[in-house]
Amino acid sequence: MKRALIVLSTLAWLLPAVTGATDKLRVVATIPDLADMARQVGGDFVEVTSLATGVEDIHAVPMKPSFAVMLNHADVVLLVGLEAEHAFLPALLEASRNPKIQRDQPGYVDCSVYVTPLEVPNRIDRSLGDQHPMGNPHINLDPVLGKAMVRAIADGLSRNDPERADVYKQNAASYNAKLDAAIAAWQKEAAPLNGKKLVSYHPDLLYFAERFGMVPFGTIELRPGVDPTPSHIADLEEQMRRSHVDLVVRERHYPAGLAETVAQQTGAKLVELPVMVGGVPEAKDYISFIDYNVRTMLKAVEGG
Ligand SMILES: [Zn+2]
Repeated sequence: MKRALIVLSTLAWLLPAVTGATDKLRVVATIPDLADMARQVGGDFVEVTSLATGVEDIHAVPMKPSFAVMLNHADVVLLVGLEAEHAFLPALLEASRNPKIQRDQPGYVDCSVYVTPLEVPNRIDRSLGDQHPMGNPHINLDPVLGKAMVRAIADGLSRNDPERADVYKQNAASYNAKLDAAIAAWQKEAAPLNGKKLVSYHPDLLYFAERFGMVPFGTIELRPGVDPTPSHIADLEEQMRRSHVDLVVRERHYPAGLAETVAQQTGAKLVELPVMVGGVPEAKDYISFIDYNVRTMLKAVEGG
């Protein structure tokens, strides 16, 4: 970590001064979901890139030297927030040597500001390895919270480009209207998911489950970011059998073997889901990502 940071800092330091700056706002998003939303809100007035491609664990996106360069040139950084990115973003921001996008500066746009998180711990102790010190940060899996993220992005772009604030506000409103229509359709289609119990590897599916009436029953991980122990798995399997848990979700960046075993041992159906845009080829943008997850979950439930 330390060495990576030194390499990153050195690279940013060697960068030439930015020349030929365009009229466009340069936006760097941590995940592709935010990048898609920023393109919807910013239209032709933004140039957007994403650090993650969508197949990574949001808590451990591998740092590349090119990230420090991207951030060095950025006017705005968009993050999910709630400390989801705490394993890599603070180090990258430091390495970027870009004062505009540091925490509490106008270019630092936390997209969780309109969200009330669930599972907020009553004490924070990182020595326990908890990846969720501010509560569950996986808000991008719920399209209703997605609308709140779009609003935060519109605010953030407007703060950094006040002359176009009206355009950003209008684009955000029309994209959120499109999301509203999609949400209404998903809620109708997802009726068979209502009441279904699920175990996931990590609590990524919490907000998705709540939105569609599903019951999050537990996780294969002992706690967020803490590997399972044999006794935890044995307890979990026993409780799952007793409560007739329907589904085991394997988020695609977690190992397959254990999720498969837990599903086999308990008679639950195994479902594999992406947790971000780009996690599977079908999840090209935010709407197709949520659509893929709703459909894949429905297929698992309806397939018996
Ligand atoms: Zn997490």
